[in-house]
Amino acid sequence: MVKHYKCSNCGADMEFDTASGMLKCSSCGRMDSIEQMAGQDELPGGAQVSYNMDEDDKKAAESAYEYDYENSSDDDEPSRHITFREGEAKEYNCKNCGAVLITDIQTTATKCNYCGAGIVISERLSGILAPECVIPFTISKEQAQEAFKKWCRKGLLTPNDFRVADRIKDITGLYVPFWLYDLNGKGEVEATCTKVRTYSSGDWIYKETKYYHVYRKVDLNYLRVPCDASKKMDDTMMDRLEPYNYNNLKDFQMPYLAGYIAEKYDYDDDDLLPRVKNRVHSYVDSYIRSTISGYSSVHYNRKDIRIIKKRSDYALFPVWMVCYDFRQAEHTFAMNGQTGKIVGKPPISAAKVAAWFFGISGGTFLLFRIITSILGGGFLWF
Ligand SMILES: [Zn+2]
Ligand SMILES: [Zn+2]
Repeated sequence: MVKHYKCSNCGADMEFDTASGMLKCSSCGRMDSIEQMAGQDELPGGAQVSYNMDEDDKKAAESAYEYDYENSSDDDEPSRHITFREGEAKEYNCKNCGAVLITDIQTTATKCNYCGAGIVISERLSGILAPECVIPFTISKEQAQEAFKKWCRKGLLTPNDFRVADRIKDITGLYVPFWLYDLNGKGEVEATCTKVRTYSSGDWIYKETKYYHVYRKVDLNYLRVPCDASKKMDDTMMDRLEPYNYNNLKDFQMPYLAGYIAEKYDYDDDDLLPRVKNRVHSYVDSYIRSTISGYSSVHYNRKDIRIIKKRSDYALFPVWMVCYDFRQAEHTFAMNGQTGKIVGKPPISAAKVAAWFFGISGGTFLLFRIITSILGGGFLWF
């Protein structure tokens, strides 16, 4: 089923408005509160939702997913293990202009290619596929474009023609599927530590080594650790877009997606659990290490760290993606749609790097390290 959000005043398309956090009519400026729409398909006196459903919509939706109930656990939350059939596209008709929209199986929200109307595909956001929460966009398209232009002008080592040109090919507001995990980490370590003191007395220099047996036991809870669940999105890029501010985490409502592109998750919460466990394992490890200080040496005799999942929630986070052309090559950069944090790598001018490097005599180790890290791609530009 396809949902269009229509203005009850004038019938024009409504889209999510970043400034107000409401649904806004592009034509007459009418605003409708999304929170009030909770669970309702029609807001009294507010935005009208028009459905566009052909007869076999439901059947298609049902047959598109195969639910695997074998994995369901004892608690009342149903298992999220779902197998998707590959390569299934689905056709919808745009209610506005009648154009045929072909969506791939992952799409949950999109725009009509012809009239630009925002469209939300409700069956792909319902039941087991319903996100629990969403962080709405707070950066508008115009703000994202402006930030990208500024970013182009930045950077000592970017080629001049890159810095002056305005070359945005396409900017897309994307809701990326994430899993948010609540995890408990228990750690227990035993270590032998030393404190070494050197002193002189008379003609002798003494070196005194004291040995300590150190024991630590920690029990830590980590809430809402995010992990992106989309195959298409680069994991490292998504990790670098963090942090998201959870103060603005909202219960999911479909109108938030109006006017944006959204997809459902490719990986379920079990698929990504090892990745997030690894991450939290390193947090627990470094926390323990931080509690053992003031020693000359630390040697772990035993280290047990166990991470247990308490809960996982399906969430959508906002990202602006920009594709741009530079010297016949396509690049992408991404921006956190809530905080405005930018991740990406502008092109590097080899000539400028060389000039910079050789221009400073006795090129220090530090400088060399900066350049190698830029060339190695481990450098972030903000
Ligand atoms: Zn209107
Ligand atoms: Zn259309």
